[in-house]
Amino acid sequence: MTPIRCRHCAAPLEDVFVDLGMSPIANDNIPLERAAAMEPFFPLRAMVCGVCFLVQLQDSESAERMFDDDYAYFSSYSTSWLEHSRRYVEAMTERWALGADSHVVELASNDGYLLQYFVERGIPVLGVEPTANTAAVAREKGVTTVEEFFGVALAERLAPEHRADLLLGNNVLAHVPDINDFVAGMKVMLKPGGVITMEFPHLEKLIELNQWDTIYHEHFSYLSYTTVTRIFATYGLRLFDVEELSTHGGSLRIYGCHDDDAAKPETTASRALLERERANGLTDLATYRQFAAGVRADKRQILRFLIDLKDDGKRIVGYGAPAKGNTMLNYCGIGRDIIDFTCDRNPHKQGRLLPGTRIPIVDPEQIDEARPDVVLILPWNLREEVMEQLAHIRDWGGAFAAREPELRLFP
Ligand SMILES: [Zn+2]
Repeated sequence: MTPIRCRHCAAPLEDVFVDLGMSPIANDNIPLERAAAMEPFFPLRAMVCGVCFLVQLQDSESAERMFDDDYAYFSSYSTSWLEHSRRYVEAMTERWALGADSHVVELASNDGYLLQYFVERGIPVLGVEPTANTAAVAREKGVTTVEEFFGVALAERLAPEHRADLLLGNNVLAHVPDINDFVAGMKVMLKPGGVITMEFPHLEKLIELNQWDTIYHEHFSYLSYTTVTRIFATYGLRLFDVEELSTHGGSLRIYGCHDDDAAKPETTASRALLERERANGLTDLATYRQFAAGVRADKRQILRFLIDLKDDGKRIVGYGAPAKGNTMLNYCGIGRDIIDFTCDRNPHKQGRLLPGTRIPIVDPEQIDEARPDVVLILPWNLREEVMEQLAHIRDWGGAFAAREPELRLFP
C-alpha cells in the first residue's frame, strides 16, 4: 500500500489526530422524496503531519460528492456574520486606503454577503464563487462573480484584469482540497504592494476547547498560524500580521503580502502568536496524539446529559442545521429518539432531513407550537444570537442547551 501523504509537504502521514468513524456528508440534507433511500457514509478521520503539523482529513471518495448544485449555505442568513463583514469592510477600507481606483477580490464570495459593502462604497470588486445558486444571488446585489474554483489556472486567466490590492477569503482556506494550488494562485492574483487577508478557525482553539464537531468532510484542513505561515512562505508570500477573532469559536484573521514587500514589517502580534503556539505544543506531535481521548470523553458526557433529560421526560428540539451539528449528532448516534426536530431560518434547508440521523428540518416558528422544554443550539458559535431570537421560550419554561465546550443548560 502506498503511504498517505501530507496535502502540503508530501511527508508520509502516519499520526491520527481523531477518528470520528463513518459519517455522511454534513451539508447533504435529504429531500423528503429521498427519505426512503440509502445514503453514503465516508470515513471522517483527521490526521496530523509530523513535519509541517497540518491537521488534515484523510482522503476519501467524499470529495467527489461535495459542492454539488444544491449547495444550500447562504452566508447572508446569519445577521451576526453580516455585521462582522460590514465592520471588516470598514476597517480594511480605512487601513489600506481603498477607493475607486482599488480592486478587491474575494475567494468564495458566496452570495455577496461581504463584497456588497465594498460595492456600496464605490470600490470595484470581483467575487469568485463556484456554487451557481449563491453566485446568482451575488450578481443581483451588483457583485460581479466568476463561477469557478480558484487555483493557479484561474488566477493566471484573471490576473491581467483583476490583480488585487486586497485579496480576501473567509472560511475558504480550510475548505479547499488542494491548499497548495490555492495559495500559489493567490501569489499570482496579488498586486505588488497588495494585501491578502484570510479568516479561518484556529486549530489552537479547536484543541483547547475540544471543538471536534468542527471536523467534517468539507473542512479539509485545520490550521495553526505556524503551519499557514509555512504554507504561504512556500509560495513566496509572507504573513506579517494577525488578529484573533471570536467567530466560529475562535478564528484567526491573517495578513499576507509578497515576501519582498518591505513596506509591511512583521508585527508584534504575529511574532507573539508564533511563540504562543510553540509554547502551547502546536509544534509537538504529543499534543496532537492526546486529543482523541478528550473527544471520546466528550461523547460520553453529551450522551449522559441528553439521556438524563429524556429520563426526566423532557422534550428536546434542535436549533440550526450546521455541519458541526451533523458531526456531533452522527458521531454520538443521536436521532429522533432524542431530538424531535431541528429548525433553520434558511428556507433552502426547511422541509429536508439531516443526513444520517434523518432529523427533520422545519421553520423556526414550529418551536412556538411545540413548546419544547429544551432547545439544543447546534451552531454553538451563534449561541447568544439564537438565545436572543428565541428568548420567548422562557415564557413556557423552556431552556437552551449548547456545547461550551461541555454540553450544558443555559436556563
Ligand atoms: Zn506536512
